[in-house]
Amino acid sequence: MTSEPTRWVYGFGGGVADGDASMKNLLGGKGANLAEMSALGLPVPPGFTITTEACTHYYANGQTYPDALKIQVSEALKKVESETGKAFGDPKNPLLVSVRSGARASMPGMMDTVLNLGLNDQTVEGLANLSGDRRFAFDSYRRFIQMYSNVVLGIEHNVFEEILDEHKDRLDVHVDTGLMAEDWERIVADYKIAVEDALGRPFPQDAELQLWGAVSAVFDSWMNDRAKFYRRMHDIPESWGTAVNIQSMVFGNMGDTSATGVAFTRNPSTGEAALYGEFLINAQGEDVVAGIRTPQALTRAAREAMGERSPSMEEAMPTVFAEFKSVVERLERHYRDMQDIEFTVERGRLYMLQTRNGKRTAKAALKIACQLVGEGLISSDEAVLRVDPASLDQLLHPTIDPSAVRSVIAAGLPASPGAATGKIVFSADEAERLSGLGEAVILVREETSPEDIHGMHAATGVITARGGMTSHAAVVARGMGRPCVSGAGEIQIDESAQCFRARGRIFSAGHIVTIDGGKGEVLDGAVDMVRPELSGDFAELMAWADSHRRLKIRANAETPLDARTAREFGAEGIGLCRTEHMFFDEGRIAAVREMILADDEAGRRRALEKILPFQKDDFVELFQIMAGLPVTIRLLDPPLHEFLPHTEDELRTLAQSNGLDADKLIRRAKELQETNPMLGWRGCRLGVAFPEIYEMQVRAIFEAAIEVSKTAKPPAPEIMHPLVGKREEMKYLKDLTDRVARQVMSERGVEIDYQVGTMIELPRAAICADHLAESAEFFSFGTNDLTQTTFGISRDDSGRFLDYYIAKGIYEKDPFVSLDQEGVGELIKIAVERGRATRPSVKLGICGEHGGDPASIHFCERVGLDYVSCSPYRVPIARLAAAQAALQGS
Ligand code: PEP
Ligand code: MG
Repeated sequence: MTSEPTRWVYGFGGGVADGDASMKNLLGGKGANLAEMSALGLPVPPGFTITTEACTHYYANGQTYPDALKIQVSEALKKVESETGKAFGDPKNPLLVSVRSGARASMPGMMDTVLNLGLNDQTVEGLANLSGDRRFAFDSYRRFIQMYSNVVLGIEHNVFEEILDEHKDRLDVHVDTGLMAEDWERIVADYKIAVEDALGRPFPQDAELQLWGAVSAVFDSWMNDRAKFYRRMHDIPESWGTAVNIQSMVFGNMGDTSATGVAFTRNPSTGEAALYGEFLINAQGEDVVAGIRTPQALTRAAREAMGERSPSMEEAMPTVFAEFKSVVERLERHYRDMQDIEFTVERGRLYMLQTRNGKRTAKAALKIACQLVGEGLISSDEAVLRVDPASLDQLLHPTIDPSAVRSVIAAGLPASPGAATGKIVFSADEAERLSGLGEAVILVREETSPEDIHGMHAATGVITARGGMTSHAAVVARGMGRPCVSGAGEIQIDESAQCFRARGRIFSAGHIVTIDGGKGEVLDGAVDMVRPELSGDFAELMAWADSHRRLKIRANAETPLDARTAREFGAEGIGLCRTEHMFFDEGRIAAVREMILADDEAGRRRALEKILPFQKDDFVELFQIMAGLPVTIRLLDPPLHEFLPHTEDELRTLAQSNGLDADKLIRRAKELQETNPMLGWRGCRLGVAFPEIYEMQVRAIFEAAIEVSKTAKPPAPEIMHPLVGKREEMKYLKDLTDRVARQVMSERGVEIDYQVGTMIELPRAAICADHLAESAEFFSFGTNDLTQTTFGISRDDSGRFLDYYIAKGIYEKDPFVSLDQEGVGELIKIAVERGRATRPSVKLGICGEHGGDPASIHFCERVGLDYVSCSPYRVPIARLAAAQAALQGS
């Protein structure tokens, strides 16, 4: 029996297609959607897709192609030739193609593209004859040489830009449109000389050779640094590979009845239900995104809203516009989501080049999801699944206070909403360097390119002097949730002097500005911000999410501000109150240090007496804010030396200002100093060694709870012991807690419902969870420490080598950010199972950083925890992720 040979190539065009939209894994997003549009009978230039499997094969076999690929490509090409009535490489009637990447997930601008492929010294004459436009033919040829030389042959762009500028100077012409056919012919000749000079061989004339060069370049671009960085940022596995789409060219640069553009079926910034986008007459696709010419609006309404004079597409090409509008409306209904579309008009005929679900801001994602439910296109369950939980982060951060004084330095386009303040920097590397030092920076660029992506990521906001609403900067910033003002033409950047000029002033690197991405303004200095609006679409979607959620969501909070924020964001309790943070407060650190320096228990008790009232007040406020919701209070955890200064000088100064014996202080600090603090004398080991510390904390908790219970809903404290690993240890701590609790309750004659439990932070604790559950009434997985102790790496310094591990694919992600499900996760499963075996009602939660990470939340749903606890700003993210986990049956 012979098996079917592998199919590496799928054709589309002429109202039929070999693939469809469901085949994204094999054909990439672009290829699958071109096939789908073709089969829908939409005007798609015919072409074919080389599969992502061919890319995988290419990398698995020393960058070589599968044997059958060449034959399949040449068969597919023949079909395109018969569909178009043109022939590839034919000097009289040449077929030209575009060669574009297209992975499963969109990676805008990260990989390579070649347009106008198939042109050479003969076919350019054929194109000139066919089009009746010699200028167009040679303009296309020079574009091709420039793009191919850069992408495939590795020659820098500026080699060609300099030649072009020389010709413009010579002819005293300022814009490309001022160049005539013979000018372009001379430029083409000079381009070819430049290529030969650079490579020692002529520019390839053979169309077939050009094609395979471009295909390899696209496959190779899957591994370029930009693509790798983008994949890391968006968790796209390297193993997916990219497809290659080869498609017959249509030309938006064939005169004034031709155009090219991009459109979103709804506004990707605000979500407004109105066609949104830009186009350029007599241009090729790359001109729109490159931000070199300023594009025009698609609709009259948009043009008027922008106060523009150049006609919109609706006004300049009413017939094609009407057809376009009906096609995009159909696409949105078909895909049941907002579409991001690329199109070209060639001499009055419309062609669709791409459609995909459009990237959008979180605000737009919410609005669009709610609109689509309202329009009956999707259900509320689907709406919940449509919004990326991590993107909500954008909404939860402040915007500029409407009543703040605004000193506008420059205005541009509102490319990505939100506000950000920071020091201006002029390069991506500098942005990355300064942000690594903890500085907030605003990246200022003439226009951004994919090379700047790491800087955009590091910056809190982005300003560009050129480029439209769909320029690289705008698209990427929106995707990353960075506020962005693009096309701020008033800004004149002088990179060598590290400054920009605007409205008669000079702003140097390091100057602080604030950007208002919603208004498109750059403001001088730091400007007041206000908290986000959490009603409207946000509230509606969250209500749908909450109705599906099984996991409860708590917050990690110890200050009243954090607790209030957490409640506003919908937290259903506190899952971790780290009491040590309260000890650093100015009013009490002196007493804490006195306690540490005490020679004996009596001395420690005296110092603790002073801390008790402060500690009690802390809890009173927290209990009041949480109004009867559960509050898990973790008793003192860090090693005591963390409360002392580190250097001898600092210790002497401290001794002097507090009237302490400096030598004794230094000696004590040395005794407590540890080289392995993550495994050291910390956690409940403090409570076991110095029980009076925990006794004071428990007393403070109960005194506070009783006080609050007199005027408000009785608090529900859960006392949590850190770093427990042994049955006897847990029993000792449980007895200590109960003893003090009973004592305070009997002193006051008031009963408080409470629980005593433990964190699970050690592999031993997980494995012996059945022992711990004998006394512990709840477990909270402290996955920060559990990750440290399972891997044997420290969260404080692992950043230095984790990058190597991630780059080498040994770790897929930082295990401190996203839970290591196969190792740490396995320990959690063991603990859940064994804990429940001893005590079926044991309450289970997680309070490590992973409690706010969507992928880890899915895991928590799967193993049946009762709640996740995360930082207050992540509470809405966790609510949505928990709902999605429940809806997807995890
Ligand atoms: C943990 O270890 O996961 C935890 C929440 O405690 P901390 O981060 O305070 O050590
Ligand atoms: Mg811990």
